[in-house]
Amino acid sequence: MSGMLGHRAPGESDGRREHGGDGADGFTVARRRMVDEQLIERGIRNERVLAVMNEVPRHVFVDPAFVQRAYGDHALPTAEGQTISQPWIVARMLELLEVGADDRVLEIGTGSGYQTALVARLAANVFSVERVPALLRAAQQRLDQLGVRNVALRHGDGTLGWQEFAPYARVLVSAAAPRVPEALRAQLTEGGVLVIPVGGPKLQHLEVWRRMPGDRWRHERHGECRFVPLLGRDAWREAPEDDG
Ligand code: SAH
Repeated sequence: MSGMLGHRAPGESDGRREHGGDGADGFTVARRRMVDEQLIERGIRNERVLAVMNEVPRHVFVDPAFVQRAYGDHALPTAEGQTISQPWIVARMLELLEVGADDRVLEIGTGSGYQTALVARLAANVFSVERVPALLRAAQQRLDQLGVRNVALRHGDGTLGWQEFAPYARVLVSAAAPRVPEALRAQLTEGGVLVIPVGGPKLQHLEVWRRMPGDRWRHERHGECRFVPLLGRDAWREAPEDDG
């Protein structure tokens, strides 16, 4: 079956009805291969994460020009010079986040909404903040199209978090930060986990911050990654120069 570029009716494309063949959306095989070759083979073990990566139709979240490359082993450009992250890094962040089914999750950097849709399947509720209005609108449309209901999106500066619904059991930042923004720490519950790429504009490490009793923190540093910059009051004030 060839890939479908068009839009589907709401609720038709959430992946749950796909069994064998190339499935209802024409990308079942591509998605399965992505999970096997890019994720399992490279060490992603969390079964819940693998399951949602196998279910959520990534091609819905990429620009129409890139639909046939949606399941490839790379990031892809979205509007406004931003990107939808490579499948492996998305899965790695979700694995490090250890999301529980009852958790309320704060996400910074909605982007295409792909990771938002994945978290929505793992958690009770997702609150996601994006600074580029055009991206936010497109993400909302896609999530609506897929019938995702437990997500609230907001336009704003995510370095300030989303105080109204705090505290969160999990906080996920999917843009590169020079440091962990204060507000994001403050809005995390005790026992909560925050995952964020921290470093310079070109190269970061994935960091996991755990809030312990008595406002003590533990943090671990994981592998290297490359994200677009987190731009805001408690991050970079403007796009860093040296991205050549
Ligand atoms: N996880 C996304 C990819 C995010 S790319 C996906 O699956 O598609 C990083 C996003 O962070 C970009 O869309 C960028 O506009 C956004 N961003 C950067 N700084 C931000 C800030 N201060 N607050 C909210 N979003 C921000």
